[in-house]
Amino acid sequence: MRESSPEPAGQQPVSGAPIVRVRLRRGAVMPTGRVAGESDRQVHLAPLPAGVDGPVRLVAFCGLVIQPGTVDVVEGMSGMPCTVCLLRSPGPANTAAPAP
Ligand SMILES: [Zn+2]
Repeated sequence: MRESSPEPAGQQPVSGAPIVRVRLRRGAVMPTGRVAGESDRQVHLAPLPAGVDGPVRLVAFCGLVIQPGTVDVVEGMSGMPCTVCLLRSPGPANTAAPAP
C-alpha cells in the first residue's frame, strides 16, 4: 500500500518503512546471552514496524534481535555503522543489487 502523505523532514522513508538507527547500550544483554561491550556498540539499521507506538522489538538487517530498552536511537550519522546492516538495508548503497 502506498501513501502520498508528506513525511516529516529528516526521516526519509525507504520502501515504505521508516528505518531507525540504533546502538546497543553498554551492559545490555544480547540474545546470545553476552553482555554488550564497546565492540558491540555499532550502529545498526532496523525497519520500524508500522502502526506500533512505544517500545517494540526490532530486528536489524543483520539479523540482530533488539529488545526494547536495550538500545539508544542514534540521530544523524554518528557512530560506527554495522557493515552487514548497511549492505542489507534498502538504502542508496544497495540500489544496484538485483532482487532475488
Ligand atoms: Zn547490524
